[in-house]
Amino acid sequence: MRLVSIAGEQRPRAAVLDGERVVPTASLGASEDMCELLAHAGAEALRELAARAADSAEHLALCDVELCAPVPNPQKIICIGLNYRDHAEETGQPLPNAPMWFAKFANSLRGSGQPVVIPAAHPDHVDYEAELAIVIGREGHEIAEHEALSFIAGAMPFNDVSARDLQFQNPLWTSGKAIDTFAPCGPALVTLDELGELGELGLRARINGETVQQGTTSDLIFTPPELVAWLSRTMTLRPGDIIATGTPAGVGVSLGRFLHDGDTVEVEVDGLGTLVNPIRRG
Ligand code: ZN
Repeated sequence: MRLVSIAGEQRPRAAVLDGERVVPTASLGASEDMCELLAHAGAEALRELAARAADSAEHLALCDVELCAPVPNPQKIICIGLNYRDHAEETGQPLPNAPMWFAKFANSLRGSGQPVVIPAAHPDHVDYEAELAIVIGREGHEIAEHEALSFIAGAMPFNDVSARDLQFQNPLWTSGKAIDTFAPCGPALVTLDELGELGELGLRARINGETVQQGTTSDLIFTPPELVAWLSRTMTLRPGDIIATGTPAGVGVSLGRFLHDGDTVEVEVDGLGTLVNPIRRG
């Protein structure tokens, strides 16, 4: 099933995406807060919710709603750095022995269709990173790798937008990453039962229709189950937590091509759809 969050008067509302129909979960008697929905509905309850959404007369048209980040209010957004061999090579950095990670915060989250805004203070080195992001479905601590998939609710395309000048000014990459609008994701959170495998998904980035990144999750150095197991050794993972798993080669800092006002960036992941964001000057 596909879960989305749509812009509401006060806060985003969770909904089931059924083809071009958008069925708010509140109209199905379920929580409209995505983290709560994930926390209280296991895989089976979500399947039942999808069945009820398909029969529901109360729905909106996808073309009439504004999509927000599928999980607009997670407790954590953890981004893995240098998790594809070809990307580590293109940036001249050694392969990590253990996952490297940095944080983003909810101020960076946006949905498909919403603009990524270039900050006036750092306009010249804004870069894209096409990534597969996974979303945690149930609380866990010290999760065994062989059980990790059962803690993952689903996955979505994610663009780890970066201001490279700021990123490399500071040993903490977060400074160039945790910028307003710099974590667009979606369009939908696709549950694992619909998606099946996470291990062989093609992913690509396009700028104004031109492909600039092309990779496959079979090249990940640390797989989603390994990342969940490793992170949960020190952090309790909670429903709604987002883990962006890293980007393949072809980022702008390597190509000498950065994002500018008027560009459109797309991140597509097989089976998950395409995240589309216009770039705007701040
Ligand atoms: Zn990244």
